[in-house]
Amino acid sequence: MPFRRGILVRGIVQGVGFRPWVFHQARAFDLTGFVLNRTGEVWIEVQGKLADLDRFMTMLASHSPPLARIDAITTRPLEPITENDFRIEASSAAEPGPIFVAPDVAPCAACLAELCDSGARRFHYPFLNCTHCGPRLTIITGAPYDRARTTLATFPLCPACQAEYDNPADRRFHAQAIACPVCGPQLQLVDRHGKALLEPPLSTVVAALRRGQIVALKGLGGFHLACLADNDLVVRELRRRKQREEKPFAVMVANDIAAARLGEISLGERDLLNSPARPIVLLRRRTDAAIADAVAPHNPYLGVMLPYTPLHHLLFHDMPDTTLVMTSGNRADEPIAHDDADALERLGDIADLFLLHNRPIHVRCDDSVTRVVAGVELPLRRSRGYAPQPITLPFRCPQPILAVGGQFKGTFALGRDCHAFLSHHLGDLDDYAAFSAFRRDIALYEELFALEPTLIVHDLHPNYASTQYARERIGSSRHQQGFAVQHHHAHLAGCMAENNLTEPVIGVTFDGTGYGLDGTIWGGEFLVGDYRGFRRAAHFRPVPLPGGDRAVREPWRIALAYLRDAGVTCAKLESRIAKPAWRTIQQMLDRGFQCPLTSSAGRLFDAVAVLAGVRETVSFEGQAAMQLEWLATGSAADAVYPYDIATTAAATFVIDFRPLIRAVVGEPEAAQLARRFHATLAEVIGVVCARIREQTSLNDVVLTGGVFLNTLLTIETTRQLESRGFRVYRHRLVPPSDAGLSLGQLAIAAANVR
Ligand code: ZN
Ligand code: ZN
Ligand code: FE
Repeated sequence: MPFRRGILVRGIVQGVGFRPWVFHQARAFDLTGFVLNRTGEVWIEVQGKLADLDRFMTMLASHSPPLARIDAITTRPLEPITENDFRIEASSAAEPGPIFVAPDVAPCAACLAELCDSGARRFHYPFLNCTHCGPRLTIITGAPYDRARTTLATFPLCPACQAEYDNPADRRFHAQAIACPVCGPQLQLVDRHGKALLEPPLSTVVAALRRGQIVALKGLGGFHLACLADNDLVVRELRRRKQREEKPFAVMVANDIAAARLGEISLGERDLLNSPARPIVLLRRRTDAAIADAVAPHNPYLGVMLPYTPLHHLLFHDMPDTTLVMTSGNRADEPIAHDDADALERLGDIADLFLLHNRPIHVRCDDSVTRVVAGVELPLRRSRGYAPQPITLPFRCPQPILAVGGQFKGTFALGRDCHAFLSHHLGDLDDYAAFSAFRRDIALYEELFALEPTLIVHDLHPNYASTQYARERIGSSRHQQGFAVQHHHAHLAGCMAENNLTEPVIGVTFDGTGYGLDGTIWGGEFLVGDYRGFRRAAHFRPVPLPGGDRAVREPWRIALAYLRDAGVTCAKLESRIAKPAWRTIQQMLDRGFQCPLTSSAGRLFDAVAVLAGVRETVSFEGQAAMQLEWLATGSAADAVYPYDIATTAAATFVIDFRPLIRAVVGEPEAAQLARRFHATLAEVIGVVCARIREQTSLNDVVLTGGVFLNTLLTIETTRQLESRGFRVYRHRLVPPSDAGLSLGQLAIAAANVR
């Protein structure tokens, strides 16, 4: 007597090869029945011996295709029927399409084997993929996800591919991006003027790279600029042409063995390097790494990634021991190029040679960047390979919500049910191209996820491009309400949401800039609250920021502001700055002219870095602070600097660093200064949180904001807090920087309209 069960599977189960996989498992266990796609879920009926049904269930729960993510499985017993096989049933025509969209991932093992199999019809074919791997988000042009709404729409399938596509037992069953040398995209080699070259593309590129040339490679989510990483001359030439002075370049190597020759690799880092998302992983650089100095100047870390497209694998097949610089195809701070004509125009002066292909990239998607801190991932940029996978919220969104994020390191998030669909990295929205992509990709995501937001959430800052976008939409629609969220409250809520916290916490929210409730610039904040609201329990004593944003590029101005505030001088610093500039800033400070007040922790880092002699100006925000961290790394702190904590009438603590500045000025040794400063800040956090606990009895602390990209501070603060009995939470899924704002905004809005 057979048994029959109905099984409902929810999660990312469509467009990821789930049905063929179920088909194989059911056959393997001698079960009959069927599998069927329904809206955002899969329905399975299986019939057979009880033991086989149980084994099938175990398999379902513990193993699934690499791109699938099962959120819930529910079963119920059914009456057995007469049937003799297992089938994949067609979805009904009214199917609204997948609710989840998979990210772009690296070739699976089966595809890699095929790539190297000289007997296979896709031998050395750079566009092979299957339902378990390959491009997704970057090629999707609309919903529902099928081939007609991808950039492969113009490549009709050949009979052999069609047969695989139609065969439920094949791993390419309904693989929308299926391609082969007969019917799929092809490589094309062109010179810097766009003139087609007839040489064989791959071997010519390999020879050019070996000769020390710079090659633009069209990839998955955009163009890369590639060159030999051990050739100082060519790397410096790349910097000159790209107009990028010091921002580090990432490198690509053939495998994790080669990566281990460049950096020290823990097990966690090895797993991340090899994960299907293939992010850039920041490794502690080995002193004997064969890398030109110009790749990552003065930087003790190196961003390393492994091949993540068949094309990368083919390149390294021909040059297995090479380390290639693989940096985004752009000039200075522009968004990465992703369209052929645009790339030729913008990169024509940078690259000597272009390796193109005729599969258009629809969604520009930068490489993700991550690292491991104290054994746990700390994302720096969540983009290719991760987006648009949902992050599970601790509660349901009562209505469809769009959160537009901040201004810098832009992302947006769409919320439905318990899911937050976080976008890929969109860059700084003050750039017009980045802002255009932001608008376009919001529309695309809304279509893909079949979601029409009735609530649009934005930052309090009136001049953020994202705020203006949100207001424009709210103003022109009757169906959309607006909701403004304070910047640091969003940071706090984002960290709470990804850690599944629902009770009030102390939020240590340290960043560069965020619009405060009082109109000043906040950034060294201790908030107490949850999704529903917050109180500013403590903050840094505000200092003037001479010239506003210009001070971020010229942090010596901030150092001067701190010096004046503390009533000390620093002859060493003064001697390094041009006299007229120094005098101008002094006068601005005296008159309070263009000197907005800020409590920013990022600016304190800037000031101390300048006083440590690290640098006086920067080419990107956070550069001086980062160098201060490197300077401090590796030694133990032997002392802390003095500081004061005042209490206002409203029982708010104000942290006064004037005593610290006075001590720092007298410090002879830069590394010790940097080390003691980090120790001081960690201690301050511990002490202030303990005082807040006395007021509130709260014992959970979240660490958030861009300053917590600083690993030394993160580790030391965690130690300080844990030794005082606090439970400490930090980011693991989204970056602590403004890239995580959209998630926090979404959670706050969802909680407040409930
Ligand atoms: Zn595959
Ligand atoms: Zn084909
Ligand atoms: Fe921020």
